[in-house]
Amino acid sequence: MSATTLSQPPSLTIADRCDRCGAQAFIRAVFVAGELTFCGHHGRELLMPLQRDAVLVEDATDLINSAPSPSANSD
Ligand SMILES: [Zn+2]
Repeated sequence: MSATTLSQPPSLTIADRCDRCGAQAFIRAVFVAGELTFCGHHGRELLMPLQRDAVLVEDATDLINSAPSPSANSD
């Protein structure tokens, strides 16, 4: 339990893509050596280890339905 989870980060944009599947990213995990971004599906899948290992986890999955993207995948 080292990472802080933000509920409404302003920094993720439509240009941020999931590192696993390329969908729009809604979760960003910041590590000492860099950062990873994930879509809602993969972010939720990895949220526990990310929150354990990352310096900061930004969770914007609550924006998925309020900011639809042409490339958004449904879970
Ligand atoms: Zn993904």
